[in-house]
Amino acid sequence: MVFVNGRVITMDSDTPRAQALAISDGKIVALGSDEEILAYQGSSTRVVDLDDRTVLPGFVDAHNHVFNDASRYGGGMTFEQAQELALSGGTTTMADMFINEHYLEEMQSFAQDGSLRIRTSLYLTYTDNCGKLTGDWFLDHPPVLDSPEMLRIPGVKMFLDGGTCGRPALSVELPEGGMGDLFLSEAELAEALERVNEAGYQAAIHAIGDRAVETALNAIETATDASSKNFRPRIEHNIFVRPEHFARYGELGVIPVVVGNHKVCRFIDAGGVVDIGEFAHTWHRPLRSLVDANPGLPIAWHSDVPYFADNLVRPISDLAWMVTRRGFRPDGTVCEPPDWYLAHAVTAEEALQFMTSNSAYALFMEDMVGSLAPGKFADIVVLSQDPLNIEPNLLIETEVHATMVGGRFEYCLIGQEFCS
Ligand SMILES: [Zn+2]
Repeated sequence: MVFVNGRVITMDSDTPRAQALAISDGKIVALGSDEEILAYQGSSTRVVDLDDRTVLPGFVDAHNHVFNDASRYGGGMTFEQAQELALSGGTTTMADMFINEHYLEEMQSFAQDGSLRIRTSLYLTYTDNCGKLTGDWFLDHPPVLDSPEMLRIPGVKMFLDGGTCGRPALSVELPEGGMGDLFLSEAELAEALERVNEAGYQAAIHAIGDRAVETALNAIETATDASSKNFRPRIEHNIFVRPEHFARYGELGVIPVVVGNHKVCRFIDAGGVVDIGEFAHTWHRPLRSLVDANPGLPIAWHSDVPYFADNLVRPISDLAWMVTRRGFRPDGTVCEPPDWYLAHAVTAEEALQFMTSNSAYALFMEDMVGSLAPGKFADIVVLSQDPLNIEPNLLIETEVHATMVGGRFEYCLIGQEFCS
């Protein structure tokens, strides 16, 4: 198949832009101008005219709960329906972050049936969301890091502070009193990191409050096993980060996995986080500061669907939020962000890196997904407009016209003929 007459954003610094691409056997063969790519045309080649649409690598959601919460939180959806929704948003790779023994079995049989159409990585529980240790069960399911597998097991997830259970661990008093719940001490976490890394798993540490972030960074630094530092440790959420910790991620090689959305209107209309205090102005979802303090560090995106998000799966709204920091009320009216909040915005280019190549790195999949280059999987999303060449407030209007995984159209917007 060849795609021509488009705007291809590769997220690969060697060839950032192309007009056309050729794919074969589920992989990208070449990128270039229309003329260069049409040279690959044979008698059985399907030629797709993009008609100036934009092609990006499919979105890589480094952390969500699309499958494991489908039935509980997604309105009683089946795995198949949840997957369909994720594909309609342009997600081609994702990681499901709360896998206990029960869900692992369900996911494995779903994949064995051939029903899994999104590349999925599973993170097995080390603790539950209340911080209770869930035992050694994960050791019976060895890591699977090979990129070509549709279902992989890269790591283990531990909750370090409150969120869905208990309160985030902060270093200041919460409005309701107390400083939140820290589930593991620095020494306990350091020991946990050594155990999981020794067994070959990556560690993904949930930390919402600044005291949890600090504990996670300290534990990674003090873990005596060198692999704890080299195994791409991830800190999930990073909602409150103290300025003295911004640069420590890069110094320690820790991947910040940042949330790409926020119920902006809820906190603007209700006072919300502003009431916690002035400190929140520099600490709260500090995407800009994390980028500036850590040149070259891959900061990864996660939707955390269905938590944090208003929609089930809509990467485009995450992209728009990261760039504009605006919110929308149910009636469509805009919630304009205060200046301190807008100061943490990133550029569309930076946000797209979070959502593709950086998230692929967070999953050990950068050799196959997250950018478009010869030899990588033909996992792409076709958009109605070019997010790098429009006014930021129009990003939210970008439509997903098609989603392709491994060279197959897995989603085609009704009315779009090029993919049907
Ligand atoms: Zn989560």
